[in-house]
Amino acid sequence: MKIFKNKHKLQKAILNQKNLSFVPTMGGLHNGHISLIKKSKKFKGKNIVSIFVNPKQFNNKKDYSNYPRNLNKDLSILKKLKVDYVFIPNKRKIFSFKPKNNIYLDNFSKKLCGSFRKGHFEGVLNIVNRFLEIINPDRILLGVKDYQQLHLIKQHIAKRKIKTIVVKCNTIREKNGMACSTRNKLLNKKQTEIGSKIYHYLKKIRKKPVYSINKMKEIIKNFGVKKIDYLEVFSLKTHKKTSLINKNSKIFIAYYLGNIRLIDNF
Ligand code: AMP
Repeated sequence: MKIFKNKHKLQKAILNQKNLSFVPTMGGLHNGHISLIKKSKKFKGKNIVSIFVNPKQFNNKKDYSNYPRNLNKDLSILKKLKVDYVFIPNKRKIFSFKPKNNIYLDNFSKKLCGSFRKGHFEGVLNIVNRFLEIINPDRILLGVKDYQQLHLIKQHIAKRKIKTIVVKCNTIREKNGMACSTRNKLLNKKQTEIGSKIYHYLKKIRKKPVYSINKMKEIIKNFGVKKIDYLEVFSLKTHKKTSLINKNSKIFIAYYLGNIRLIDNF
């Protein structure tokens, strides 16, 4: 496993790689990340994982400083997985060049997380655009857990005619049902139990075609959730609210356990 902090050295090393699979992460690696990395190894060629806690996608300074980081542990996980390349860019340098492509922000960026986290998706696309330019991967593996992010990156890639293929990866869950997340490390036992209840409840609701958002919110609040940013059913075709839960729609939720914000979709 080769580790790079400098983009020029990385580019020199991967210059002749014809089949490169890229997994961007913010570190604090968990089973969700591991499944993406394992999937990336199923493709021919080499794989590359980036670890970078991107300050530009945090709309809250405290959230950024509290975000769990454990580089040594992450590197030992990546080594065990036999990852070929790891890119750990420097915060100042990664933003110091002007990328060839401007970011493309689809309208979907204004909805759900976009309406609660100002500048979040601009921040995500800013860094992903830079990574795509530096690494020029054949494919990028992204989790459906961050559905909106996945969709917006896909749109950016299509609009800017970037050759990278987007590979969608299923959400990996803890035994208690909660989606694996780096932020789960910050939860206490009681909060984890509430997160698990929400999972079981929304999984059950998913099977019912008719629902009432207000009733759902009330039930979730009764589990002990003080703040729900959003709980919505969106059509996967139009990315607009829908009144039907079916195979063409998804339930999206963002909620707080204490001051930890979690998202999921069903
Ligand atoms: P992050 O480190 O949170 O920025 O996530 C890096 C990548 O891992 C993104 O493509 C996420 O969608 C994906 N990811 C995060 N959590 C999960 C999960 N529970 N299951 C599958 N993929 C995930």
